[in-house]
Amino acid sequence: MTLYLDYAASTPVDPAVAAVMAAALADPELQGNPSAVHAPGRAAAARIEAARAQVAALIGARPAEILWTSGATEANNLAVLGAARFRASRGRHVVTSSTEHASVVGACRQLEREGFAVTWLDPDGDGLLDAQQVAAALRPDTTLVSIMAVNNETGVVQDVAAIGAVCRARGVLFHVDAVQAAGREPLDVGAQQIDLLSISGHKFYGPKGAGALFVNGRTLRRVEPLLHGGGQERGLRPGTLATHQLVGLGLAAELAGARLDADRRAQSALREALWAAIARVPGVLLNGHRARRACHILNVSVEGVEGESLLLALEALAVSSGAACGAASGEPSAVLRRLGRSDALAQASIRFSVGRATTAADIDAAAAAFVAGVAHLRRIAPAAA
Ligand SMILES: *Cc1c(COP(=O)(O)O)cnc(C)c1O
Repeated sequence: MTLYLDYAASTPVDPAVAAVMAAALADPELQGNPSAVHAPGRAAAARIEAARAQVAALIGARPAEILWTSGATEANNLAVLGAARFRASRGRHVVTSSTEHASVVGACRQLEREGFAVTWLDPDGDGLLDAQQVAAALRPDTTLVSIMAVNNETGVVQDVAAIGAVCRARGVLFHVDAVQAAGREPLDVGAQQIDLLSISGHKFYGPKGAGALFVNGRTLRRVEPLLHGGGQERGLRPGTLATHQLVGLGLAAELAGARLDADRRAQSALREALWAAIARVPGVLLNGHRARRACHILNVSVEGVEGESLLLALEALAVSSGAACGAASGEPSAVLRRLGRSDALAQASIRFSVGRATTAADIDAAAAAFVAGVAHLRRIAPAAA
């Protein structure tokens, strides 16, 4: 049996969420098109609006400010491309960081192909950006800043409120990829002065293929859609809404909010116990700031072993090396390279991420497997260092 420690890549669907989704799929009263004006359509639409309120509550937004998407990849693309393109006549400069998720990096690269200028800020060796760094990068033609709340590889938490204050003071839109933060770190789009924010259901025990983009009221009519069709989601995201997906996403958001403090405490303790157990091995280095990290992620590099062999040696553990989506490429993690790690150390890295079902016994087993695996690799290939 594999021990699942990859909650940053995806979380299992909460049983209550699965139940409400299955019920919605089977409910004859909910089969109408939610855009239709007849009773079956209105019943589905009512459930979707209830879900919208549940998601809004998790981030301190108003329900009308939530747009449904197929996930955070789409939400990030809609935010970055949609906001920048809408403002193109006013300015064609965007600020982001070099350690963003592939969906923000990819959207910004698309803007570059369209003639926009992008400033790629490098975090410090701990993975942190400074709000002053963001302020210094702003130009008269800057229209958008996109910075993630919690890094999906290292778990480092950025000071989103400080960056939000800088952007608001300069009249620049601020987008936050909050996928790893939602349900794990408190989020408040008002207090943190966020204009656009992306979340994904499957990162907080909801369904895959369902996500949302928060767009604040003032910005709602100032985003260009990626898709064209019917008028759903204020014309910003046309397409028939998936009633069962959104009902599940809504409940997942409500549960995540209700459990946030307890989940956070429990998972921080597990993460710390894991670090305490494996930090005793010589040549194990923590990636990312020691304290400014989300509750669930521990990322380490191991000296003197080879990256691929390390993952093989830990076969009993479902963990990641680099981001789950980039793992197939075999390339050393670009995020860890930006933090100053060598190619070898970036490659010989493991991301452990804990979740609701992780137990203290799981942590003991994972630590034992890690300690034994590293010792074995160093024994069979002692020259690798
Ligand atoms: C998983 C993830 C995404 C992409 O979300 P999907 O819903 O899977 O498309 C975006 N950003 C971060 C930080 C993520 O961890």
